[in-house]
Amino acid sequence: MIPASFEYVRPDSVDDAVSALAAGGEDAKVIAGGQSLIPLLRLRLAYPSVLVDLGGVGELQGVRDDGDAIVIGAMTTHDEVVKNALVAAHAPLLAAATATVADPAVRHRGTFGGALAHADPAGDLPAVALASGASMVVAGAGGRRTVDAADFFVDYLQTAVGPAEVLVEVRVPKQDGWGYHYEKFHRTAQAWALVGVAALVRRSNGSIAEARVALTNMGSTPVRAAATESALTGADASAGTVAAAAEHAADGANPTSDLHAGADYRRHLARVLTRRAVSAAAGL
Ligand SMILES: Cc1cc2nc3c(=O)[nH]c(=O)nc-3n(C[C@H](O)[C@H](O)[C@H](O)COP(=O)(O)OP(=O)(O)OC[C@H]3O[C@@H](n4cnc5c(N)ncnc54)[C@H](O)[C@@H]3O)c2cc1C
Repeated sequence: MIPASFEYVRPDSVDDAVSALAAGGEDAKVIAGGQSLIPLLRLRLAYPSVLVDLGGVGELQGVRDDGDAIVIGAMTTHDEVVKNALVAAHAPLLAAATATVADPAVRHRGTFGGALAHADPAGDLPAVALASGASMVVAGAGGRRTVDAADFFVDYLQTAVGPAEVLVEVRVPKQDGWGYHYEKFHRTAQAWALVGVAALVRRSNGSIAEARVALTNMGSTPVRAAATESALTGADASAGTVAAAAEHAADGANPTSDLHAGADYRRHLARVLTRRAVSAAAGL
């Protein structure tokens, strides 16, 4: 189908993008890689009157080193994230998970910021941001604010980014010394996760000093597997410990049932995939 007509603006600064959104009112919308938004426009499930294209805003591109963190511009494509040397060195969980997103064509257009702002429960990167303790910089008419990943994902397809705001960049603390793994289960025909598990494990003297585990598609937002994390913290790094802790992966989660998987099956997947992801992250 052909989208409803809209005005198109292509600002070259974050301030101009925010002004264009404010001027367009409720019906203005940001477009990044267009991989999620364009299908919605074509199906007329969304019909904004103004599209604000972030493709010309140089500040939103690329990855930089910022001491104890790396900072990833919102318009950095999935393909750039996968290939970036700073991401590979300091946030390898993100590189590994991003490599599983969709296919090369989508990864060349889709952006890290777009995937987070879209906040699809089946999207892989929100859980990775949550496990990584990332924080998001959001710009609006009143200036810039920083939102922790734990507060960023509000509900199904909803984030803390307001209608006249732009996600500018994402700060990911360096994961030096952590083991990592992203494990997901998906149908053969497409890469969207039925359930996914992002795991980070820091070992010390044969024990698990710290574990961070976040789940994809186990609710309307990504969730931490808190009971599994506390069972792992301070425990010996053994297959038996990990298996026992993974049994609690779905505790407190509220997955949906849909055409592709029932809620009970998703809980089962969360337990199995958590055991695999944590074992791999712990080097077991
Ligand atoms: C065939 C296909 C398969 C896919 N498979 C997967 C998969 O396996 N795993 C996965 O995680 N994802 C998957 N995706 C989604 C993909 O990762 C998209 O790139 C991503 O969800 C949206 O990024 P985008 O840059 O294209 O955003 P767009 O489509 O341009 O925008 C999406 C939404 O985010 C908003 N937005 C975008 N950027 C910003 C910003 N900087 N500030 C404020 N709001 C913003 C837009 O207004 C819009 O509402 C798939 C997509 C397709 C088409």
